[in-house]
Amino acid sequence: MKIVCIGRNYAAHIEELKNEMPAEPVFFMKPSSSLLKDNLPFHIPSWSSSLHHEIELVVRICRTGKDISPRHAGRYFREIGLGVDFTARDVQHVLSARGLPWEKSKAFDESAVLGTGFLPKTSFTDLKSVDFRLDINGKSVQQGSSGLMIFSFEEIIVHLSKYVTLKPGDLVYTGTPAGVGPVHPGDHLEGFIGKEKLLDFMVK
Ligand code: ZN
Repeated sequence: MKIVCIGRNYAAHIEELKNEMPAEPVFFMKPSSSLLKDNLPFHIPSWSSSLHHEIELVVRICRTGKDISPRHAGRYFREIGLGVDFTARDVQHVLSARGLPWEKSKAFDESAVLGTGFLPKTSFTDLKSVDFRLDINGKSVQQGSSGLMIFSFEEIIVHLSKYVTLKPGDLVYTGTPAGVGPVHPGDHLEGFIGKEKLLDFMVK
């Protein structure tokens, strides 16, 4: 199983980090060892002093595919879930400035939080209006909608499968909307798709 993450997929988030608008999806990967499930607590690593939350819609791949055509991309996922792409922003900035890979800031243990369930695509009237949000200590800090994504679920799948064979169980984190920021020990994070709560965990 692999975890693929899309970067820079919401204009307002690109703006807040002063990044350039991508001409095609930007992707990177996290190892399976980064997965944190079942609402277990997240532990801030000792080597970062700016550990950021990024709430993201997650699609789970349901069949093997390579060089998937736009027409067929929708067949490769049946469900949409929610996750947090935890990022050591301070470490990422140092690596980016030197033109080095981001792995250390993105692929560490517990950095890929996955919600407690997936919602079937059929439960949404429109895949372009899947609304989601992250609350910290009862206050909403990030809100997004799939309609604001620069690259749609299907476009992401088409692009990824040009380079990497997608397999059942693979997770694709589809990018974060604006509002990223640091988490602190004692924070209580809750994530929702619509009214459905899929994340509810503590930061330690
Ligand atoms: Zn992200």
